[in-house]
Amino acid sequence: MKPFIDSLPDFPNFAPGEVWLAGAGPGDPGLLTLHALHALKTADDVVHDALVDPRILKLAGNQAKLMFAGKRGGRPSAEQADINELLIERARMGRRVLRLKGGDPFVFGRGGEEALALARAGLRFRIIPGITSGLAAAALAGIPATMRSTNHAVILVAGSRAADATSLAEWEKLASTGQPIIVYMPMANLPEIMSALQRGGMAHDTPAVIVSSSTTAEERIVETRLGTAAADAATQGIGSPAIVIVGAVAAMRQQLLANMVCRR
Ligand code: SAH
Repeated sequence: MKPFIDSLPDFPNFAPGEVWLAGAGPGDPGLLTLHALHALKTADDVVHDALVDPRILKLAGNQAKLMFAGKRGGRPSAEQADINELLIERARMGRRVLRLKGGDPFVFGRGGEEALALARAGLRFRIIPGITSGLAAAALAGIPATMRSTNHAVILVAGSRAADATSLAEWEKLASTGQPIIVYMPMANLPEIMSALQRGGMAHDTPAVIVSSSTTAEERIVETRLGTAAADAATQGIGSPAIVIVGAVAAMRQQLLANMVCRR
């Protein structure tokens, strides 16, 4: 296929029987990569999860068959086997299969598991990284992931399994590093996570920002503190998908906000 953006070099050929595992970014179509856009325009099947924004799915070519294959928190893991099977089956039919995921496919997206299943099935696949929602949601809220004055590392962590005891002990260790923590899937266990971080040594007044539905019309941003984050999220009715950023960098928002041009 002729590249749809003529001024750019040729895009890789999407061969029949290949699976491309791509990230769709946090929602805003402007944050899609050109490779992902090319894949959307070329794919026969677009197998997407619940987090892929409808505005992005609209960019698929007319030939594309859109197939929903998402996991919504808490369902049995057998579903992942079904998704792997679907990808393998469609590729073996000779379809050009785009597996499109929110954010980056290899960051808490089970893209690794799917790539492994494809490799084991002897199928050819390509990885197209995406902008991960944790970093994008923070950046767009005026929060740099790193600043030389505050931190030389940043922790990306999944909050979905945080409530059991071993896991809570791990959270305390994360807190003891003193580095900022960006929590994906935080909402089910927010009070437990915030308490564990305090037990691990983070001060209760450590700046924290919650961003839900970043880059969509439903976007909400709550500026809070470690000790009050769970209560503030509950009072303000913040739901998933959301990212929580805890650490000194979260306070940068106040210094940047006034001059930051926001999209909406
Ligand atoms: N692969 C994805 C993460 C999948 S896990 C990525 O790289 O971004 C799902 C979690 O991602 C959600 O529970 C939420 O924590 C986060 N997330 C995805 N899209 C988001 C958005 N637009 N705003 C805030 N959080 C988002």
